[in-house]
Amino acid sequence: MPLKLTPTFAFSQSSLQSYVNCPRRFWLAYVEQLKWPALEASPYDENERQLRMGSQFHKLVERVEAGLPTELLADGLEHPLDEWFESFLRHRPVDLPRDVVEVERVLSAPLEVEAGRYRLAARYDLIAVGGEGADRRAVVLDWKTNKRVTRRSTLQQRMQTLVYPYVLVEASAGLPWGPLAPEQVEMRYWFTAAPAEAVSFGYNSELHTANRARFEQLLNGILGGERESDFPKVADTEENRRRFCGYCIYRSRCDRGVEAGELEEYDEEAFSDEDLERALEFTLEEVQELAF
Ligand code: SF4
Repeated sequence: MPLKLTPTFAFSQSSLQSYVNCPRRFWLAYVEQLKWPALEASPYDENERQLRMGSQFHKLVERVEAGLPTELLADGLEHPLDEWFESFLRHRPVDLPRDVVEVERVLSAPLEVEAGRYRLAARYDLIAVGGEGADRRAVVLDWKTNKRVTRRSTLQQRMQTLVYPYVLVEASAGLPWGPLAPEQVEMRYWFTAAPAEAVSFGYNSELHTANRARFEQLLNGILGGERESDFPKVADTEENRRRFCGYCIYRSRCDRGVEAGELEEYDEEAFSDEDLERALEFTLEEVQELAF
């Protein structure tokens, strides 16, 4: 019997990243769906504020892309949202394709493994598609409001960099803009901390095949588990406690310390904004709408 997941469950970059970082975290968050009241980072208020600002920034960008007047949107913004918004207006990439621009779009692709057919879903901040013939291309943009820019080598390893281009290629054939070859897709991260220096990743058929194999391997590992003990905690080292447990809501349950990690020492490179992503998990309606 494969692992029992809720009927609306769709794999995502954040659930796969949880599993890669710490299998136990996947079990607690996505199988048991346990809400555990440990603070993720300290000071708590500042962490909450940071998450709220990140979410507001995404909403502001969505409104700009929908054509609402920027002067109205900029009026009365809290700091540092005002600064982020100004950076966005000044440094929104100018080279994006223009035929189709989709904001906050959720797409999914099927993944077939031994245990059955599952969905891999992604919520995109912005997808821009355009051009004809050899010039046809698609850019996936992701806005990051982290305090620090994540290193390129770390981004390259992150599940998001694998999942987003993969799902776009797989889902495009059934969408109004039509099929996209992996070579036509680019994944780009834009940081409020360095708005003029977006980090870009090309994509190709070789990566696409390798990504599919990786997802299948991860799903086989996850679905082959039955109980909590099949999902071990990340090794108990000082570094893992600092990088993962200190910012994980389950640390008291796991007996990995009681103190929240300091927000100022938050190691974006290791942990990213996973908890913000989790707050943006798919709604039931969205998941039901995702056709195979
Ligand atoms: S506290 Fe540490 S061991 Fe426990 S789920 Fe979180 S990351 Fe894993």
